[in-house]
Amino acid sequence: MPTSRCNVCALGISVLLCTAWAQTPPPDSVEAHLAAGKNAAGGRDNTPDFYGLVTALCVAPLSAPPRPDAPAPRMDPNRARAYLEPKKAFDDLYWMGTASRSTWALTTNDGIILYDTQSVYDAEDIIVGGLKKLGLDPAQIKYVIVSHAHENEVGGAKLMQERYGAHIVMGAGDWDMVAESVNGFPNGKPKRDIVATDGMKITLGGRSVTIYSMPGHTPGTISGIFQVHDHGTPLTVAYSGGTEFNFVNDVPHFDTYLASERRFAAIAADARATIIMGNQSQFDNAASKLRMLADRRAGEAHPLEVGAAAVARYFRIEDECAQAVRLRLLGQRN
Ligand SMILES: [Zn+2]
Repeated sequence: MPTSRCNVCALGISVLLCTAWAQTPPPDSVEAHLAAGKNAAGGRDNTPDFYGLVTALCVAPLSAPPRPDAPAPRMDPNRARAYLEPKKAFDDLYWMGTASRSTWALTTNDGIILYDTQSVYDAEDIIVGGLKKLGLDPAQIKYVIVSHAHENEVGGAKLMQERYGAHIVMGAGDWDMVAESVNGFPNGKPKRDIVATDGMKITLGGRSVTIYSMPGHTPGTISGIFQVHDHGTPLTVAYSGGTEFNFVNDVPHFDTYLASERRFAAIAADARATIIMGNQSQFDNAASKLRMLADRRAGEAHPLEVGAAAVARYFRIEDECAQAVRLRLLGQRN
């Protein structure tokens, strides 16, 4: 405890006050950052909540990256049990996935922009089957944005590239991850295609996704800003490309993660994003919220429209809990 507090307590101001003070960790401590991250979860006073994000980053964070020679993805014979009904999320955005993994399809009058592609063994059923169920034609997929090259985001990229001639958009560092992967692509790798650069716009049929480089979760993680329409009303989405701490856990890597996260939080705020979205429903609750859509009343906000303040809280959780791990690492280094 800092001596200043002890001195104040020694003056005998108030036993109660000093007890409370002594229990409050100093602001730049592991405990304080974890508490701030958890408190940003919301869920009180009818605010939208991000408990899944808090669990993944503040309670039980991952601590190491998958190795380039990690074993090949396993085919689960019962995988179809996890597939949920695909949904129309907005006028021009569709969802396909499981309780934990999302693929999004932005529709335009000139084809489809697909965002993230499931694992190699799920892509055919979830994406191709899902689009057909939704009355959409998978052959219309023109661009596939891969937020990062982990197994559950990049798995279907080769299928989309080979069968439909779709362009694959991925950060340079993650194209390198694909190249270096030993066992990660049992059906072959997607061919290096569009290398995402910061500020790049992927435009199709008058719609654009603006890409931002977000190194941290992986070297080439990309996030995006785009608009959707809710019964004709435009809403701005901040698509967060990489979230968890399964990268090399040292101070420089956390510095990179934090710089990216803070920059994208500012970009999302400037863009007045009121929707935070990604490829994992644990974080944006997409799977359950889209099931809630059926019960939406007239005039009620879309369940995914959480508001700018909640979007800011989402990034605050990432920020505070990354700072907590970074401080812990800093302590271990000294
Ligand atoms: Zn990942």
